[in-house]
Amino acid sequence: LSGEKLKVLLDHREEVRQTLAREASSLTDRVFHRKIYVRGLIELSNICKNNCYYCGIRRGNHNLHRYRLSQEEVLQAVKLGTDMGFKTFVLQGGEDPLLDDDFYLDLVRKIKDINPQAALTLSIGERSYQSYEKLKKAGANRFLLRHETKNKKHYRKLHPKEMSLENRIQCLYDLKELGYQTGTGMMVGSPGQSLDHLVEDLVFIQDLEPEMVGIGPYIPHEDTPFSGEKPGSVELTVFLIHLLRLLLPYANIPATTSLNTLSPQGRDLAIQGGANVYMPNLTPAYHRKDYALYKDKACFNIEAAENLKDLKEVMEKIGYDLVMARGDFEVKHV
Ligand code: SAM
Repeated sequence: LSGEKLKVLLDHREEVRQTLAREASSLTDRVFHRKIYVRGLIELSNICKNNCYYCGIRRGNHNLHRYRLSQEEVLQAVKLGTDMGFKTFVLQGGEDPLLDDDFYLDLVRKIKDINPQAALTLSIGERSYQSYEKLKKAGANRFLLRHETKNKKHYRKLHPKEMSLENRIQCLYDLKELGYQTGTGMMVGSPGQSLDHLVEDLVFIQDLEPEMVGIGPYIPHEDTPFSGEKPGSVELTVFLIHLLRLLLPYANIPATTSLNTLSPQGRDLAIQGGANVYMPNLTPAYHRKDYALYKDKACFNIEAAENLKDLKEVMEKIGYDLVMARGDFEVKHV
């Protein structure tokens, strides 16, 4: 859809919401047959060289207990997840300067030794083409890197001068070129975001054609320069999930932790209207609270991998089946 048409839909979302929700739901059913794919999320490190104004693990936050999982801790989490039946692991972390290519290459190979059939997703920020290439050769399959915003001015409102939108976007095209199943996305309602910015995001997403799109409401963190800002809208996030499903029928779209943190009802509406993925937390429980991207991040209850049974029940209640299969991106004829 062109930017003009997207803007009309966003401006008139009250009038079109129900239709879009119904169409997105019906399309998701035809493509994914009411299956929700799970991914085990391991939060590797909350040490970050970046200073994004919105993020609780930003370099400038001195009120945070910093941690970096040891290789042994990560492999333990993968073993635990493997025993539970997980077939996708997502390694996410801040841009920790000590975690170099050699560290990641060794880790990727060891994870693949433990579970050769599993898909491995990395979400470890901006790196060089060569680094992404080596990690891909070592066995990484997918990469999540939200573009955050496609608008230059808005990007500057969210990030200090030392960071660059051009580089982030280049990283995404590099990942695509290297054959990663690539995920992008943005926070909804980040400070300074307008509907026009969201239109730019959606136009960019259509151009990139990512295999995954993760969006979630922005949630303020008290130890950031944006502490006084308002959280993003659940309703707008869910609307965008409907729209993204219709724009990218086969993409893997998670119901994100930030959506569940703000509103379990929003999470269910997202599942019923386009999302097909859930990412339970496999981080060792004693570090989960430290990966505090925003206020009161959900990481226990149904957000925790150890409570998979409860998540399964919650999904069954709304008519969906939790499945452990890899759920690779695939163009399906529906
Ligand atoms: N360092 C990696 C990167 O840059 O992609 C991965 C970690 S980063 C913390 C993961 C995502 O958390 C970001 O892409 C951002 O959209 C989200 N995030 C950070 N702070 C947030 C906040 N206050 N509210 C909602 N989401 C937030």
